[in-house]
Amino acid sequence: MRQTRDELIRELHEYFQISELVCDHTHSAWGERAWQFLDTDYLACLLVIRRDILKAPMTCNHAGAHQRGLRCNRCELVRTKGKVYLSSHVLGKAGDFTVDGMTAQEARSLIRNNAHLLPCPIRMEAGVTWLHFDVLPQYGIKQKVYEFTA
Ligand SMILES: [Zn+2]
Ligand SMILES: [Zn+2]
Repeated sequence: MRQTRDELIRELHEYFQISELVCDHTHSAWGERAWQFLDTDYLACLLVIRRDILKAPMTCNHAGAHQRGLRCNRCELVRTKGKVYLSSHVLGKAGDFTVDGMTAQEARSLIRNNAHLLPCPIRMEAGVTWLHFDVLPQYGIKQKVYEFTA
């Protein structure tokens, strides 16, 4: 049985503050309520990846970097785009993480090897020095863990 959103958020509080998962603009406007912008599949996968697969502290936003989770229309990375921008980061379905004690490549391998634990399919960005994962159900893709290049 899938946990409810409330249960997921309660458990995620052991590992993350909402300010780590959304941009500063969103956090100053919505505070704790900003959890509402994060997709349920994303929350469910984040919990499993943190608690059951990587079992290590994961840093998303931290001092000086606030666009690694949810991005809003005021975020520099979004505002400066001259073309349509529908990244999983603006849909509340993505995060970029640094994992304590392992490289992004090692984290991606661990996730790939434990794909059966994930409650739904995920995508990971291949070949980058951070762990980007998202739950965008990409059209036409059947793999449980799909690696893409931006
Ligand atoms: Zn923003
Ligand atoms: Zn990303």
